[in-house]
Amino acid sequence: MNSPSLPNPSRSAPPGVRRLADLTLDNRFAALPPAFHTRLASTPLPAPYLVCASEAAAALIGLDPAALRDQQFVEVFSGNAELPTSQPLAAVYSGHQFGVWAGQLGDGRAILLGEAPSPTEPHGWMELQLKGSGRTPYSRMGDGRAVLRSSIREFLCSEAMAALGIPTTRALCVIGSDMRVMREMPESTAVVTRMAPSFVRFGSFEHWFYNDRPQELRLLADYVIARSFPELQGSDRPYHTLLREVTRRTAELVAQWQAVGFMHGVLNTDNMSILGQTLDYGPFGFMEAYDPAHICNHTDQQGRYSYRMQPRIGEWNCYALGQAMVGLIGDVDEVQEALSVYQPSFAAKMDALWHAKLGLSTTQDGDEALIAALLQALAANRVDFTLFFRRLSGLAVDDPSADAPLRDLFIDRSAFDAWSVEYRRRLRAEGSADGARRSRMNRVNPKYILRNYLAQVAIDKAAQKDFSEVARLLAVLRQPFDEQPEHEAYAALPPDWAAGIEVSCSS
Ligand code: AMP
Ligand code: MG
Repeated sequence: MNSPSLPNPSRSAPPGVRRLADLTLDNRFAALPPAFHTRLASTPLPAPYLVCASEAAAALIGLDPAALRDQQFVEVFSGNAELPTSQPLAAVYSGHQFGVWAGQLGDGRAILLGEAPSPTEPHGWMELQLKGSGRTPYSRMGDGRAVLRSSIREFLCSEAMAALGIPTTRALCVIGSDMRVMREMPESTAVVTRMAPSFVRFGSFEHWFYNDRPQELRLLADYVIARSFPELQGSDRPYHTLLREVTRRTAELVAQWQAVGFMHGVLNTDNMSILGQTLDYGPFGFMEAYDPAHICNHTDQQGRYSYRMQPRIGEWNCYALGQAMVGLIGDVDEVQEALSVYQPSFAAKMDALWHAKLGLSTTQDGDEALIAALLQALAANRVDFTLFFRRLSGLAVDDPSADAPLRDLFIDRSAFDAWSVEYRRRLRAEGSADGARRSRMNRVNPKYILRNYLAQVAIDKAAQKDFSEVARLLAVLRQPFDEQPEHEAYAALPPDWAAGIEVSCSS
């Protein structure tokens, strides 16, 4: 197998880098041939200011919280100043958008700065990427910018997903500017800094396949394996195993989304991470009143990316990746075999997650029917998904008289009563103890999720230069499973005005 020559970054970062100037970046993507990227600097952002920063994300690259308050931090992560070791570039990729081949896309508004050593990441590094940092050769008709609204949403959700234990790219900070760009209306701009061990997408592979460039395709696969799947190096079927592993991770990722009611909103193949992480937060949403047909993205009129479609779309996207890898793997049956892990991986993970959400420690006959009956009742009664599972942990097996907080979530209380009889019978069948079950359930059923209206309140204040609500919301969402009595309001049902919030591909 041909490996590109890859210099290794130092694996040991100094603990607590206080000054940004001490952060040294490598950029192994830059070492790939020029066809993979365009080297260029970001476009300066006028009069930038710090909107928010995540100390937890900063810790991943050993950055001390003090470094986040430095003016140099704003300069670097607005794209106005370059770290001496930075090798900024925009990467090319292609993809299927809404099921249709879209041809070349690429980093139209993102700049990869390089990779910083990470003292905590199993990979040993994190790539840093600015999003909204100006036009690139891949901008097509776009202005290269991102608006404050969507940058705050991406920042908060990245950090919230990580706290939920769901694989995701991370967000270091949002830097704002009063410069305005046109979307449905004029909006102020921002740059969000994202971090991930790799930003390679399914669409990066498709790019070379559809351009009939098998050498580059192989180089990309070897690069991905060498960096992110080193255990496959030297195996006799590395490309087959890579596809299999990506397929498995994708299936498990989608199951994790379903379990918290997360809808990505734009599951195009250019938004699918080769690492199986949640990537590219745009018009995402968390399920509130449970409706499996719910479409979170206003632009998605057909519901291709609705909640109930996500598992099938995850698989569709793996097929698109598999298609691109047929030549590399060399045998269609092997491609099929690799892709065939999707359904069993998804089913097994989903089943384990539903069991955990219900606090069931064993698997018994009838569990599938119990879960299906619950989901049907939740849908029929438009029950808030998060509140229901959180409150379910408080159920006392032998005391239905304490069921009010649960029953009250149902329009038809008797629908809950009927289901709860079966649920109690099932809990008794495994000798479930209330206290132990409750603490188990509270570790998998979050109390706090990023409801659209919570993000909107924080965004509206930030637009008035009050960034305190973004910081508060971040702090709440970083502890999603904890009771936070002072923040009870953040766990409440959405207010009526929230129904009017529409999020779309415009960002
Ligand atoms: P997204 O829907 O955000 O995943 O973006 C799809 C493609 O459009 C990617 O190639 C983006 O880089 C590009 N894109 C989205 N918004 C802009 C923009 N404002 N300026 C330039 N390119 C953009
Ligand atoms: Mg994208």
